[in-house]
Amino acid sequence: MTPRIRPKYGETIAFLLSVVAEPSDECILWPFGRNGQGYGILRRGGKTVLAHRLALALYDKIDVPPPHIHTRHSCHTPLCINPQHMTWGTHAENMLDKAMACRSGGVKLTTDQVLQIRASIGTCKAVGEQFNVSASTVSLIRRRDRWAWL
Ligand SMILES: [Zn+2]
Repeated sequence: MTPRIRPKYGETIAFLLSVVAEPSDECILWPFGRNGQGYGILRRGGKTVLAHRLALALYDKIDVPPPHIHTRHSCHTPLCINPQHMTWGTHAENMLDKAMACRSGGVKLTTDQVLQIRASIGTCKAVGEQFNVSASTVSLIRRRDRWAWL
């Protein structure tokens, strides 16, 4: 585990603002404190705030939404605060993302396979078995929630 930097007063929010002003394409890892789930945290107004949510809210120029609005990391890196790697989503979408992340370690689909899945006409389950992925992955590909650029 990388050592955590103990921030000076105002340093955490300054870091957040600089990231939000100029996000790069790469993951930007929160260098300060983190919680038990591996998300970056900071103290703000006497409260502990999740850094990635604040980053996305600042980026979208909104207040941090209530907890039932989850954040989805497209990069599956909890410590990443790059607002371009996140969207607001529902709990259900978040769970799906997590499931996808687990599988993507073992199964890699080629561009060809994704196009074949999209063109396929079988049930999600049958097609999933054929390509060694879950039915939900097939469904996501067909709905263009995954590999949308293909
Ligand atoms: Zn990222």
